[in-house]
Amino acid sequence: PCPIRIEKVGKTFDNSLQAESPYILRGVDLVVNTGEFFILLGPSGCGKSTLLNLIAGFINPSEGILRLGEQKIEKHGKERAMVFQNAESSLFPWLSVRENVEFGLRMKGIPHKERQRISDQYIGMVGLTGHEHKFPQELSGGMKQRVQLARVLANDPAILLMDEPFGALDAMTRRSMQKELVRIWQQTVKTIVFVTHDIQEALLLGQRIGIMSLGPNSRITDIYDVPLAY
Ligand code: ADP
Ligand code: ADP
Repeated sequence: PCPIRIEKVGKTFDNSLQAESPYILRGVDLVVNTGEFFILLGPSGCGKSTLLNLIAGFINPSEGILRLGEQKIEKHGKERAMVFQNAESSLFPWLSVRENVEFGLRMKGIPHKERQRISDQYIGMVGLTGHEHKFPQELSGGMKQRVQLARVLANDPAILLMDEPFGALDAMTRRSMQKELVRIWQQTVKTIVFVTHDIQEALLLGQRIGIMSLGPNSRITDIYDVPLAY
């Protein structure tokens, strides 16, 4: 029901030091369809995070327009949720795994029993059953990343925005998280926009890959359909 539509979007930061051409992004056009697994691929520094932050509504475009369905994108819409590269900074260290996963549900006032049912489901989905009572500092990097994913999924957003979510993990853990994400995507039919600079990861996960040029004035120069690897 709500594809992402990006039209002629440009972004410049007020404090930008690039005097000649202050635009990080310029002329970005993109439509991401509902239920699609879309990859934004490009070299480090090309503006992938900036574009994702625009889709999230964390920052505003300097020109052009971003829409969800017919609606102009607004700040902190509940239909979107972001998964960051570093779970370290997004988990509450004083809350257990279960409490972290239930945090958003608690904010919504969902009663105890129901919260528990939902958190059990997603803790199970990311393979952390049995670790509910542990605290973030007792977990490995990969486990923390799973907790972050479970927490985001528990809030049931229509759109998952993922900024190099597996970039900090070792190769084995990354591979298993990639498989898990595909399985979750197939089960839950979410729209995913996934940022990476890793071509192999892009080919493994994406249905379509948008290639971003190195900035300034970075934009999506090509879009490729990927024959699904799974
Ligand atoms: P990527 O995610 O592709 O690595 P980013 O979107 O993080 O790229 O950054 C693209 C460029 O924009 C970089 O040159 C970065 O320094 C700059 N940039 C990003 N955010 C800001 C900001 N808030 N203020 C100034 N420059 C920024
Ligand atoms: P990534 O490799 O994913 O781009 P970064 O560490 O470069 O991660 O950026 C993390 C966040 O900091 C992003 O949200 C980005 O917009 C912001 N950022 C990046 N560069 C700058 C900058 N020069 N000034 C302010 N914010 C920035």
